[in-house]
Amino acid sequence: MRAEKREKLQGEVLRARNALQGQTRALELLASRDELTGLLNRRAATHSIQTLIAAADEAETDVTVLLLDIDRFKAINDNYGHDAGDNVLRQLGAALQSTVRLHEVVGRYGGEEFILAIAANDELAARSLNQRVHAAAASVSGPGAPVTVSIGLCRRFRSDAPVLQEVVKAADRALYKAKASGRNCSIIEQNGILTSFG
Ligand code: GH3
Ligand code: MG
Ligand code: MG
Repeated sequence: MRAEKREKLQGEVLRARNALQGQTRALELLASRDELTGLLNRRAATHSIQTLIAAADEAETDVTVLLLDIDRFKAINDNYGHDAGDNVLRQLGAALQSTVRLHEVVGRYGGEEFILAIAANDELAARSLNQRVHAAAASVSGPGAPVTVSIGLCRRFRSDAPVLQEVVKAADRALYKAKASGRNCSIIEQNGILTSFG
């Protein structure tokens, strides 16, 4: 094959490969994002938290997982329509995204539930995240009563090292208690004990 023709072919192969890589990245981005809020979807958020836990284990750092659920969200849909509900979800998603810091993860866990995680030994860092999440909800301009959230947290101490699934289950138990305690509050599970987290 003449050198000129070979070069042309190589150029074409290179261009095709670059285009394919670009499409793959775009597809990966699409597959990892929740369509409504643009946040990480459940699968991608879970993956990111697993990565956070692995890095935290290396650095001997505790991890706190936070699950939040919008209070009486069904009433917003019922009273003002599904679009108004979607608007609240989008606003809360944006407020949460802008409140998280570089070492924190946020994602839409499903429906009107969101998941966040932070790696820090200092309990104050988890308290700050918890407060910022309540403030994010308060910043949403809903169609009716102010938007509030109930929060369940689970602190995973380095020595415990339970798998993420167990940590999320514990956060979910704490969230259930936060709902039963009257909503618009936070409960944390640490060492199997549920306590109010202000
Ligand atoms: P609670 O305080 O106990 O959490 O009450 P709730 O009304 O928030 O909880 P419930 O589980 O009864 O209702 C959740 C509602 O969220 C029901 C479902 O239709 C709605 N929902 C889930 N995903 C979406 C969505 O993407 N958009 C809208 N608009 N609504 C959604
Ligand atoms: Mg719910
Ligand atoms: Mg709810």
